[in-house]
Amino acid sequence: MKININNIPDEGLKISLHKDGDWFRGLLTEKEKNDFSIEGIDVFCQAKRIRETVFIDGSLETTVAATCCRCLEATHLPVKTNFRYTFVPEEKASKQEDELSTEDLEYGYYQDDVIDLDNLIFEQVMLQIPIKVLCTDACKGLCAHCGMNINTACCNCHAEFIDERLAVLKKFSVVENDKI
Ligand SMILES: [Zn+2]
Ligand SMILES: [Zn+2]
Repeated sequence: MKININNIPDEGLKISLHKDGDWFRGLLTEKEKNDFSIEGIDVFCQAKRIRETVFIDGSLETTVAATCCRCLEATHLPVKTNFRYTFVPEEKASKQEDELSTEDLEYGYYQDDVIDLDNLIFEQVMLQIPIKVLCTDACKGLCAHCGMNINTACCNCHAEFIDERLAVLKKFSVVENDKI
């Protein structure tokens, strides 16, 4: 969605829009497409304009679908974030940046009086994708021995592993005793 800044009234412009997962997918690289996908994105925001500077703040909600990096189960992470942007015309970008640099605001630049909200939405969703997706923080992952998902099933590998070690120790101590 694009906003022409001349269409922003004095009292501000309220925008609510929905983007679907396919739209988002079309913007991803091939590698990213394998790593995760997004269900629909709901965006609510408000645009205000003071002369050439446009302030956009709002929130978005979506669900990230990915594979848990420990147990490899399909995982859905609800995501909600707030954002604030200050848009200035591109030709004034360098000058304004010095004047307006505060840390909690994102900057955007527009050309020909048009702000592209789609870029903003894509950027905000990408910021919400965790580097490592976990189904839960406490995910126990897969058994390194038999590959079973330890969250949902109980394998006996751990017990057997301990038994093997004990057996080795017992044997070892027998050898030691023989020497004495
Ligand atoms: Zn998991
Ligand atoms: Zn196991």
